[in-house]
Amino acid sequence: MDYNYLAELLYPHIKTTPEDMEKKYPARDLPEGARVMRIAPSPTGYLHIGALYQAMANERSAHLSGGKFYFRIEDTDSKREVQGAAELFITMFGKYGIKFDEGAVIDGDDGNYGPYRQSQRTEIYQTFAKKLVQDGRAYPCFCTDEEIEAIRKQQEEAGDNPGYYGKYAKWRDASIEDIETALKEGKPYVIRLKSMGDASKRVKVTDAIKGELEFPQNEQDFVILKSNGTPPYHFAHAVDDHLMHTTHVMRGEEWVATLPWHVELFDALGFKRPVYCHTATLMKLDGGSKRKISKRKDPEADLAFYIKEGYPKDGLLEYVMTLLNSNFEDWRRANPTAPMTDFQFSFKKMSVSGALFDIQKLYDVCKDVVSRMTAEEVYENVTAWAKDNDPEFYELLEADKAYAVEILGIGRGGKKPRKDFGLWSEVKAYMGFFYDALFTGNKDYPENLDKAETKKILEKYVDIFDENDEQNVWFDRLKALADSEGYASDMKAYKQDPAAFKGSVADIAMMLRVAVTGKQVSPDTYCVMKILGKERVLGRISTAAAEL
Ligand code: GLU
Repeated sequence: MDYNYLAELLYPHIKTTPEDMEKKYPARDLPEGARVMRIAPSPTGYLHIGALYQAMANERSAHLSGGKFYFRIEDTDSKREVQGAAELFITMFGKYGIKFDEGAVIDGDDGNYGPYRQSQRTEIYQTFAKKLVQDGRAYPCFCTDEEIEAIRKQQEEAGDNPGYYGKYAKWRDASIEDIETALKEGKPYVIRLKSMGDASKRVKVTDAIKGELEFPQNEQDFVILKSNGTPPYHFAHAVDDHLMHTTHVMRGEEWVATLPWHVELFDALGFKRPVYCHTATLMKLDGGSKRKISKRKDPEADLAFYIKEGYPKDGLLEYVMTLLNSNFEDWRRANPTAPMTDFQFSFKKMSVSGALFDIQKLYDVCKDVVSRMTAEEVYENVTAWAKDNDPEFYELLEADKAYAVEILGIGRGGKKPRKDFGLWSEVKAYMGFFYDALFTGNKDYPENLDKAETKKILEKYVDIFDENDEQNVWFDRLKALADSEGYASDMKAYKQDPAAFKGSVADIAMMLRVAVTGKQVSPDTYCVMKILGKERVLGRISTAAAEL
């Protein structure tokens, strides 16, 4: 067979050669040991939480080595592609502060190794496919779906492995005449790799996360170009990661099964193999057993969920890092305020068996992260969230920033900051009572408090309240009121003989708390009163008393 003749027959329009491509994509000028890594999602609609997991691991690994991290869009499967998904990915990664050195951007490309959208790289793929045809390592296959199905049935009956290989590979040794006839008839065809593998022999790969992997060699003549001339994942991966000089290919472990394909492809193309790093699938607990996080069943599969629900960006990043590296939590405890970029991320600390995503733990991490923020930072974040999700609250926050920041400052700073909320969506419930428009009244007294007593205490308090009191004076006033009304001002005395009192100063404080905040749990009542101001405090307490 004259393979050059066949190659010209199939690709008369391809005038470029692999050498041209090598020139166009020269080696990168990077120091020894610098890693070039990427993420390459397929734009199939939404960004899975696993993509953030991958992005962070790649970004950290590349940048800690002094290398590059880029973004490629794998959009060769037009059947699965969702319009606007690529743009959504770019925006979403931007929101999470994932920084790419190069790659696809909203309106094109940024970098010297593009195009970074695979749909724009057809000529490049065909250049290499043509070369493989010239080398006798690829050939056209005109099998219809029905024929492929018939092969499958035959294999089932014979108890043979499924696939297109060896004696089942109908077009592998077709004559040039048969090929020309089929071409003349306009039959659609794919290009297949002519595998030289032998499944009775083994191939070994050292995975940077999973360690030594060993498989039977590939023997499948798998498709490298589809009938529309575009490549499936496998071929695009080999060509792109070679030309873009990716040193480490990190991807989900679902690609381990086809690793022998990739090994054979890289060899056939004469490319140096990258280091493979296969990451464990993110799992969740469901009724006691582990399973994959799925888009269909789990809203938390979609990164957009976290934005909508008001998860702090840094909380999610921080939590994902705990999933990525088992020693991150210890590091964080030892370095509570250090930026995450100081952490020495490593493949060695990545889970091999399946990281368990625990949304409750994420929430706790968010609470910690928020508790370390300044009031101003919390304000900016809550306001940004409310702008998109709660216009009523947004207007209130916007109308008086100083007031909101003062509220958010309660219990902040110091060794043990308050941890009242973990999500921006919880802030309204936490601080809403500070706004008359959101204050829902004050009927939520604990059951043990007598109504008439509460009314009396509230009425008395109106007369003794002084907005200029320091905290200790304020509390002394409460204690004096307690004593005069038969409540214990000393908690020890109360505990020793509760029957001797109507209650304790804690009950009095609770009456006031409920009257001014409407809630039994709130930030410090003294601080609350200070911020609410005399008029509101007295107004609320009087109204509360009147309603009892
Ligand atoms: N487009 C592939 C995916 O979404 C990327 C795999 C890779 O990173 O090589 O799974």
